[in-house]
Amino acid sequence: MTATLIDGKAIAAELREQVAADVAEMVAAGMPKPGLATVLVGENPASEVYVRMKQKACAKAGIESFGFTLPADATQEEVEGLVAELNADDRINGILVQLPLPSGLDEEKVLNTIDIEKDVDGFHPINIGRLAQKGRESLFVPCTPAGCIYLLDKMNVPLDGANAVVLGRSNIVGMPVALLLVKRNATVTVCHSRTKDLPSVTRGADVLIAAVGRPEMVKKDWVKPGAVVIDVGTNRVDDPTRERGYRLTGDVDFDEVKEVAGMISPSPGGVGPMTIAMLLNNTV
Ligand code: NDP
Repeated sequence: MTATLIDGKAIAAELREQVAADVAEMVAAGMPKPGLATVLVGENPASEVYVRMKQKACAKAGIESFGFTLPADATQEEVEGLVAELNADDRINGILVQLPLPSGLDEEKVLNTIDIEKDVDGFHPINIGRLAQKGRESLFVPCTPAGCIYLLDKMNVPLDGANAVVLGRSNIVGMPVALLLVKRNATVTVCHSRTKDLPSVTRGADVLIAAVGRPEMVKKDWVKPGAVVIDVGTNRVDDPTRERGYRLTGDVDFDEVKEVAGMISPSPGGVGPMTIAMLLNNTV
């Protein structure tokens, strides 16, 4: 059996076009362009790349982006002060503080400072708290987990009553995606580094979400025939045949697992492009 490919690139491109059309309509109606502020603290090369990608995507969608960079030795007060200024700035509808922050800064306190109405990354403790509560809705849902659910919905995957297994319990992916699946009435098992006999747990999944950061860890015999597999993992592995010396790969052994799964999102080309599309969507 060969799984149906969940083409995150195409689905994200379609969403980005929709967002651009929404922005054009708003501007034509005399409203100001939506604005996204990015806050980058320090010189983490991966974070610099992510912020640049987000700014480029904003430009393409007609969203104004405002980039702010603080040095790695910025104090807690300086970072929180900048966020407070952005909260008060009417041109800015969304504030994104690129994580991780340099060590020494209290990430939770910084996220707490963001006006929840501008928390387009969805990491404010109130937004996350609402995600965990029955009958409450977050104003914003974190972009990567929201992207996973968007892909599942786009592919008409039934979640009500489905057995879902999430590999990983991080604040930014594993836990929020598990909470979203619970909200959608799936029965959810969350696995982590202390889980015993992972393959026997994952084999019970109708929907398997892998977000562990371990290249190609999920093998064919971990997956129930016909299951839907979403690979969030984005890992660099050495590859001397490539000019840049590495390639990107997911947490799922794609070549093996596509032979048993019913549907599979590849990495790269699956959840990755969805993250930015959801950010633009949240901002608008
Ligand atoms: P974290 O390192 O924060 O969390 C990893 C989670 O996986 C932890 O809960 C950890 O368990 C668990 N884990 C690690 N090793 C194992 C193992 N051998 N067996 C079982 N569980 C394990 O990672 P993130 O959640 O930030 O990211 C996960 C992956 O998703 C990465 O590859 C990252 O690059 C990618 N990612 C992709 C994004 C995108 O596409 N847009 C966005 C964000 C992340 P424990 O809690 O016990 O330590």
